[in-house]
Amino acid sequence: MKKVAVIGAGESGIGAALLAKSRGIEVFVSDFGSIDDKYKKELLDNDIHFEEGGHDIERLLSTDLVIKSPGVPNHASVIGRLKESGVKIISEIEFGFLFYEGFTLAVTGSNGKTTASGLLYHLLYSAGKQVALGGNYGKSFARILAEGSPEMIVLEVSSFQLDDIEHFRPHVAILLNITPDHLDRYDHSMQKYAHAKFRITENQTPDDYFIYNGDDPVIIEELKSYEVKAHQLAITRSDYINGIPSKDGSGNFELTIKGTHNLLNAATVVEACRVTGLSEQEIARGLKTFVNLPHRLESCGMISGVEFINDSKATNVDAVYYALEAMEKPVVWIAGGTDKGNDYEVLLPFVEEKVNALICLGVDNSKLKTFFRGHIQAIVETKQASEAVELGLKLAEAGDVVLLSPACASFDLFKNYMDRGDQFKAAVSELARRVNEDKK
Ligand code: ADP
Repeated sequence: MKKVAVIGAGESGIGAALLAKSRGIEVFVSDFGSIDDKYKKELLDNDIHFEEGGHDIERLLSTDLVIKSPGVPNHASVIGRLKESGVKIISEIEFGFLFYEGFTLAVTGSNGKTTASGLLYHLLYSAGKQVALGGNYGKSFARILAEGSPEMIVLEVSSFQLDDIEHFRPHVAILLNITPDHLDRYDHSMQKYAHAKFRITENQTPDDYFIYNGDDPVIIEELKSYEVKAHQLAITRSDYINGIPSKDGSGNFELTIKGTHNLLNAATVVEACRVTGLSEQEIARGLKTFVNLPHRLESCGMISGVEFINDSKATNVDAVYYALEAMEKPVVWIAGGTDKGNDYEVLLPFVEEKVNALICLGVDNSKLKTFFRGHIQAIVETKQASEAVELGLKLAEAGDVVLLSPACASFDLFKNYMDRGDQFKAAVSELARRVNEDKK
């Protein structure tokens, strides 16, 4: 391989370009839009040629291989043109894999990838392994390899990254769940989306492990049509619902993350650590010291006996299902934003049991209001995180929870889910300050 092109100049594309350059391969980066200044600087600093605002097809066609960033959809016209001309197109994780001989652990699923891969990394790291974490979250796989070659890599992989693999073969693969998400990129076909997720197993051998959620109906159905060669380890509710037992007879592991969904995440990770050779004591130590990232069922303040929880990362219905399931107190629920074709039906049992009020935080709240009318006593609307927090405190009683768990994307009112969660947390701090001052 002498000359490659990279399409898309985000974290994955830049990582791929840096990796190519570090291996003495000539590389050209091409982006349809404008390239972020920090990435442009990296390209210039590394003497990598690039273009933005369009694609020079002739130049792309003159390369041996094209690496496609996960953000570029398969139906983008440039991809069509290249495919027609017979150019080989691979994903960034496939490209990275061509240069990696270490131990790969990969986590995929519709929800819980970041939590599970972060936890897996933490357990391995705290057991003294030379391990890196990247992929869909944080540093791209290719960038990690451009910078060095750790003994182990934990990768969070999305379906988009699996779309264009050929040899990518994780020694340990975790599949957490398959529920509707991103269907717009898969011709609105659940089958195609499920297939993309299952590709995580396609190059595995009998020396590898496939750890999956054995209660997920889509996974169970899909398994029938794949010939998975890896050892299969199904994790089912009975393995974790009453706690995850240590095999050294010391009882259940102590966990820092809450909720049934996190028990599943932790149970798959524990299994992955066992097959990687960690002792029960090493696993226990890691589980006890893990701190999850913000915006995932993050308790962020208590005002007049009302707890505020930021679950802004819950951008689909399934994530909200587990958030509501985890709630042990009456809930004032803040939801809404950009609807991704949500079906709220599955939430009704928890909503009827636990939710006393709904605060809609979105530009167009008509769907939420219509659906939950008659099921929730009070439904109000706002377009501001600060007002949502104030309404939350008004509608809640001491001992209740105000839960931001939107079920929707954030782009109608916020930059992204982090901005939404940060604004929520800032509003909680500000309100706490005012309430405290009034008390003085
Ligand atoms: P991802 O990286 O797949 O988006 P995250 O770990 O960032 O997953 O979590 C996204 C949202 O999904 C959060 O609201 C979190 O509480 C919820 N969640 C985490 N694990 C699971 C799971 N196993 N099943 C369903 N929802 C989950």
